[in-house]
Amino acid sequence: MIYNNLLIHKNIFDELSNTISNKKIQNAYIFNGQEGIGKEAHAIEFFASLNCNNEKTCTNCSSCNKIKSLQHELLNIVLPLPKNKSINKKDSVLKTLDSKQLDILANELEEKGKNPYHKIKIKNANTILINSINDIKKSISLSIPKNKFRLHLILESEKLCYPRQEAGNALLKILEEPPENNFFILITSDISKILDTIISRCSIINFSNIEYKKHYDFLIKNKIDDDIAKITPKISFGNINLSLELSKNFKEIINNLESMIQSLINSDLNKWESTLNRLKFKKNIIESISLLNIFLNDVYKYKNSIDNIYFYNLEKYLSIVSKNCSLNLEKFNLAIDSVISNINSNGYTPLMTTSLYIDLNKILNNR
Ligand SMILES: [Zn+2]
Repeated sequence: MIYNNLLIHKNIFDELSNTISNKKIQNAYIFNGQEGIGKEAHAIEFFASLNCNNEKTCTNCSSCNKIKSLQHELLNIVLPLPKNKSINKKDSVLKTLDSKQLDILANELEEKGKNPYHKIKIKNANTILINSINDIKKSISLSIPKNKFRLHLILESEKLCYPRQEAGNALLKILEEPPENNFFILITSDISKILDTIISRCSIINFSNIEYKKHYDFLIKNKIDDDIAKITPKISFGNINLSLELSKNFKEIINNLESMIQSLINSDLNKWESTLNRLKFKKNIIESISLLNIFLNDVYKYKNSIDNIYFYNLEKYLSIVSKNCSLNLEKFNLAIDSVISNINSNGYTPLMTTSLYIDLNKILNNR
């Protein structure tokens, strides 16, 4: 194994291993499933098994060693990059990046080699450039050692086709005449944005979400505190990378939650608004609201002596709210689910969060 900290999707791993032993490698795959569950790392493990110099993937042959730093000459990682207007379509993709961006890319790849769940982030990288596909065209004509395979690993592959289709159409042409000993893995968490004509040329491998218990155990193994490891899988919706990120800022996240609870208890709309308006990104607002939902569910459990409370560290508030407020869980969940879906579909966030405050206030005061 290349990664010693990857949660294996056993059925998929076995299926891919079988294709290696039966020598039935497909020309192109789509690895589909939500973000942060290890799809990219499974692709890298598959590539490593195919090219390892030993029978079983050994982790220390020259090929495996190069893969660990994602520096293998047969591994071509394609990813969304910022569009640089001064660059010609014929230029190699590396030419589109300045030296600072190249440094960032190198660091991100290094991190990805260590952490299977790391999401590579480059500012303003919104699309897969046609230059990347032209580079694929050039590389497939280069010779490949006997019994080895070149992998073109395309991250966030929906961005081949969205917002523009140019790169997608160019890739389709390559897939229509599959080059020998080259294969493609398209990673996506949004397959609906990929052209049907591309999908029809790929074997689709669907990754299921990681179970709560496995996710929790993973965080504990990574030395995350128990109280944090219990909550983050819930607010990250199962995304392990996001859980790790949330764990780093957990204190701040809890401070925000406390502030939201206080504003509800004291009917203080100003405090509510200033707390939520401080958050820069929609995803942070959604995280905060999701946490509040978990807290309100905890209050219900606290009041009815049900186990499995997440926020024991906020017992003071559990007690105040459970004594003084009306608790209609169904209404809470409904109000919160609807505001999250409105924020996701680009509703005006300050308006949404204020209307959530009004709704929650009414429910808590049984009006
Ligand atoms: Zn090896």
